[in-house]
Amino acid sequence: MTTTLQDCRALDAQDPLAPLRDHFSLPAGVIYLDGNSLGVAPKAAAARVADVVTREWGTDLIKSWNTASWFDLPQRLGNQLAPLIGAGPHEVVCTDSTSINLYKVLSAALNIAREDGPARKRIVSERSNFPTDLYIAEGLCKERGLELVLVEPEEITAALTSDVAVLMLTHVNYRTGAMHDMAAITAAAHAQGILCVWDLAHSAGAVPVDLNGAGADFSIGCGYKYLNGGPGAPAFVWVHPRHANRFWQPLSGWWGHAAPFAFTPDYKPAPGITRYLCGTQPIISLSALQCGLDVFTAAESLGGMAALRTKSLALTDLFIKLVEERCAGHGLGLATPRAHAQRGSQACLTRDEGAGVNGQGSGAYAIVQALIARGVIGDFRKGDGGTGRHKDILRFGFTPLYLGFEDVWNAVEHLRQVLESGEWQKPEFNQTHAVT
Ligand SMILES: *Cc1c(COP(=O)(O)O)cnc(C)c1O
Repeated sequence: MTTTLQDCRALDAQDPLAPLRDHFSLPAGVIYLDGNSLGVAPKAAAARVADVVTREWGTDLIKSWNTASWFDLPQRLGNQLAPLIGAGPHEVVCTDSTSINLYKVLSAALNIAREDGPARKRIVSERSNFPTDLYIAEGLCKERGLELVLVEPEEITAALTSDVAVLMLTHVNYRTGAMHDMAAITAAAHAQGILCVWDLAHSAGAVPVDLNGAGADFSIGCGYKYLNGGPGAPAFVWVHPRHANRFWQPLSGWWGHAAPFAFTPDYKPAPGITRYLCGTQPIISLSALQCGLDVFTAAESLGGMAALRTKSLALTDLFIKLVEERCAGHGLGLATPRAHAQRGSQACLTRDEGAGVNGQGSGAYAIVQALIARGVIGDFRKGDGGTGRHKDILRFGFTPLYLGFEDVWNAVEHLRQVLESGEWQKPEFNQTHAVT
């Protein structure tokens, strides 16, 4: 049976999470399908940041490290975030960027693997992992004389050999939204004595995650995507308690010291996850991130991550169904797995090479630009130009905190109009910008 606008409105009317939209400042006339890249601002953020600047900093100045509890903000936010990723209290800190946190945990993991002997010389990851993850691993491999081995998803298990030190994966793929089975892969790696580092950039706040349940070793993730912490928000880092007190992370700054205000000349790491801090923390940014986390705390009474996941899957299922019903015949395909267990919170479409203007390119970039001009904001991720297995992608992220079912209907209706009118072929939509 085909779905109608009335059906979508009925779904919104029954949605127990609908009130959460009110926590966000969504601009009028925008359907925002890019919360997987930069989340929407929580309404509370502007006032919170203003209060930090004018009162805590402006009036109370340095006293605020104590009186406003600035000092332990990374740990407090880590504790607030922990339930979203299956971590316990005192296991997470919010700090630094995802790239920097990856450097820390990958180094620590390599140190632990070295205890096993010199035979473990490889880091295994996925070829289509987010580039910064691969670049950080490449840098560490150069520094330590190791080898970075990149494989396709179906080759991961076969790559888990006894010379591998660390398996480094991103749980939900940034291009396709494909999700790994964290528990099964971690178990397979551990069976070969391999440590697992999981990047949760597209998972935290998007899908329920159980790091402790999976017995993962290290994890990092992003604060400005589904957690809505603001542009460049501090990221997070989790280390399993069995490893947290082993080794120093390589950026052994004074905030990770056991007694930073003792000002001793030698480094003594703080117990537990606090040693994963480096230098003085960005209090204004952390305060904005807190507003993003507060919305998840508010969502607890409405069913929390489980309810958010149910709605997220309903939104992406609806999007896929409507695209197939209403946009057929325009060269679109589906890059995201249909099976719920294999999908994050995005739905990505492909377009064939040669389907663009005058048979050039795929036209996917121009279609995304035409949608943005209509207020439907998704993004474009480049493929390999028809040379391999990756097609150009039209990427749409679905944040159940602030999106409804009618939004999905309207987004697909705009896509249908853009395709049927050929509006995407206009020259202005075919010019590339620096940030896509
Ligand atoms: C978004 C993203 C990052 C971002 O890293 P930054 O240090 O914040 O620039 C890293 N890894 C993955 C998998 C991502 O999706």
